[in-house]
Amino acid sequence: MFEQKCGTGILTASMLSLVLSFAAHAEVSLAQANAIQRALLTLDTHLDTPANLVKPGFDIMQRHSYDEDFTQVDVPRMNEGLLDGGFWAIFSPQGPLTPDGYEKSRDTAILRALAIHTMVTAHPDTFGFATEAAQAAPIKAAGKHVVFMSIENAYPLGTDLSLLTTFYKLGVRLAGPVHFKNNQLGDSSTDPEGAKWGGLSPLGEQFVAEANRLGIVLDGSHAGDATVKDMIRLSKTPIMLSHSGSKAVYAHPRNVDDDLLKALAASGGVIQMNAYSAYLKQLPENPQRKEAFKELMAMMDKAENGDMSAKEFEQMQAKRRQIEHDFPAVKATFDDYMEHFLHTLKVVGPLHVGIGADWDGGGGVEGMMDVASLPKITQRLLEAGYTKEDLANIWGLNALRVLKQAEDYAKSLSNHTTAQ
Ligand SMILES: [Zn+2]
Repeated sequence: MFEQKCGTGILTASMLSLVLSFAAHAEVSLAQANAIQRALLTLDTHLDTPANLVKPGFDIMQRHSYDEDFTQVDVPRMNEGLLDGGFWAIFSPQGPLTPDGYEKSRDTAILRALAIHTMVTAHPDTFGFATEAAQAAPIKAAGKHVVFMSIENAYPLGTDLSLLTTFYKLGVRLAGPVHFKNNQLGDSSTDPEGAKWGGLSPLGEQFVAEANRLGIVLDGSHAGDATVKDMIRLSKTPIMLSHSGSKAVYAHPRNVDDDLLKALAASGGVIQMNAYSAYLKQLPENPQRKEAFKELMAMMDKAENGDMSAKEFEQMQAKRRQIEHDFPAVKATFDDYMEHFLHTLKVVGPLHVGIGADWDGGGGVEGMMDVASLPKITQRLLEAGYTKEDLANIWGLNALRVLKQAEDYAKSLSNHTTAQ
């Protein structure tokens, strides 16, 4: 029998033919994917991790596990998954559209921005805060993780758009007007009551102009289709969908159809692929889990706002672990995620697609439950025939291009307010 020495083992003829057939199908090993990804600037444009910074017992420098505390991003896992950084979100759950509601949310949002700054200043050798596209590569070159700041849901601005300047000065460079529900700025894609404004509200239109003036990229994720169209039409610079998916693959309101994708790309914008299971495919109903979670929701909101004692927090986590044990979630798979990814790439090409998987905000699929698994995306894209240059654009350069365009536009205006 034919045998050939190969490394430390013996390669038989059948094994050799297996290897050759893999090569014919452009199989890429994870080690090869890692080697390529390591050289790229890798950014995720929607990290909900800042919400964890204010929760008891969470240490961004320590390795956590999803099974234990449901977190998905920390420095050890970023290092393993070769994630350089991204846009760290100030997320605000929406309350009532009243002065009291706005005020409370504004204060929480400002404190969240400070928590992000504290993370960076407490670990100056690990993180670098960035407010300009050109700062990202030097931060990576210095061996640090990149921290841009974003706003998910501009509800905390209330009706006072001058607050956008305050957030700009705090470092915000990407901002989305809405979340799950319509608000003072425009229509959400998922408000059970349907559209209220038919797109952006008059205040929302001013919000777009103000973001342009400052040099903040507009984020159309969570916005209704008409709102996204308004944003594309009114914005002087390309917009971003920081964590969204393909409606052609799964017709969920949080996803965008091919025509809107093409309009986004034609205007120079980018879509960053979301890994939120319930938006990737129809999942089976799980009424017992839903019921069990209802009880937990109030506690989770309290934790989200950062006002929970360590003891209460541990009780909540124990309860959640019990629910996960009794009524485990059915998740979409990594293949489902890549179906959205590859379809979107086919429609708009690699200059308009990136990654925003909604880590620590509900993202995660079977086979990729935290950032440690990110090189699997690189592996799959290489196998699909995308080049290293495509990968560089997808992993970070597209998002930075859009940010740079926002910066350049703001600088071109004489009334630009510069950050201190
Ligand atoms: Zn979101």
